[in-house]
Amino acid sequence: MPDVTRACVHCGLCLESCPTYRVLREEADSPRGRILLLDALAEGRAEAADVRRHLDRCVGCLACEAVCPSGVPYGHMLEEGRRRLGGPSLLPRLFLRHVVNRPLLLRMLTGAARMAGLVPPKPPPIPWPAAPPAPKARVRIHLGCVTPHLFGNLAAEAARVLAHLGYAAERGDARCCGALHRHAGLPYESRAEGISLAAGCSTTPGLTDVCKVLLAERPFPGARLPPVRVAWDAPCHLIHAQGVDAAPLLDAIEGVERVTLPGAAECCGAGGLYMGLQPRLARKVREKKVAEILASGSRVVATANPGCMLWIWKGLREAGSDVEVVHPVTLLARALGLDRG
Ligand code: SF4
Ligand code: SF4
Repeated sequence: MPDVTRACVHCGLCLESCPTYRVLREEADSPRGRILLLDALAEGRAEAADVRRHLDRCVGCLACEAVCPSGVPYGHMLEEGRRRLGGPSLLPRLFLRHVVNRPLLLRMLTGAARMAGLVPPKPPPIPWPAAPPAPKARVRIHLGCVTPHLFGNLAAEAARVLAHLGYAAERGDARCCGALHRHAGLPYESRAEGISLAAGCSTTPGLTDVCKVLLAERPFPGARLPPVRVAWDAPCHLIHAQGVDAAPLLDAIEGVERVTLPGAAECCGAGGLYMGLQPRLARKVREKKVAEILASGSRVVATANPGCMLWIWKGLREAGSDVEVVHPVTLLARALGLDRG
């Protein structure tokens, strides 16, 4: 670890890209500060509890890695540091070990959260499409763990868009790909493969983000919506971790007026489990995102990660706004007339 942490030349160019530093203005809650803490931990100069406190506050957005001129692999260092500290605390550990791969339990928990108004309402389900007569390829859609319960139609919408483009799409695993465990510093054997609907998961080996697949399939003849202004928000794990800009997917739909938010590439504060583990800080980080969406005058926000969709939706509803939050796949399915029955 020290070899890696020494790649940091302490220039501070990453500081203003860091959402927790922008909110807290504490060096220890900046990328540079956390790197120094990881170094001190490795050399036995820091208290584990102190290092853990500041690592726990890191949302894992990788904005720092994207702007670092020295190529410091911060994401890898963070995961390694969390692993050294023994992984997450009891509650997230129990969730990751005993809940995340139990679909029935997840369905009950999301149902209860829905009744309490904590997650978006459930739309009427749409059926999975039949394969086209002579498919150009067969693909699997990785259903994931929480996504099918939060956004139940998203996988079928993706399958319908892919079928429209000539692919035979089959259902993949409805289990965690391991991204949540990896980010928390817990070992997990991933067997995920196929197309991922979540930018936060598509960095997992074996998965490819659906936006990446669809970007290569443009244009989409006939994709048309009544005129609508759509705010684009780039999920951190798509733009920073994979360098994929999915905004052109919106530009490929006639009738969409895309507004890229001033802080489109800034974290919304969701960060997988982060919104539940650091709710106060996650809310502070989200404030700017919600304010920018409201100021944009958009009726719809598009973002390509279910965790971000949920967190932004919650922020907008708390602000009294009924702006719709969707995945670009949903907009595309709607624009192609594939979103119903
Ligand atoms: S992580 Fe990179 S950008 Fe940040 S202080 Fe270190 S060298 Fe500079
Ligand atoms: S990953 Fe995000 S929150 Fe964590 S140090 Fe880097 S910029 Fe800050």
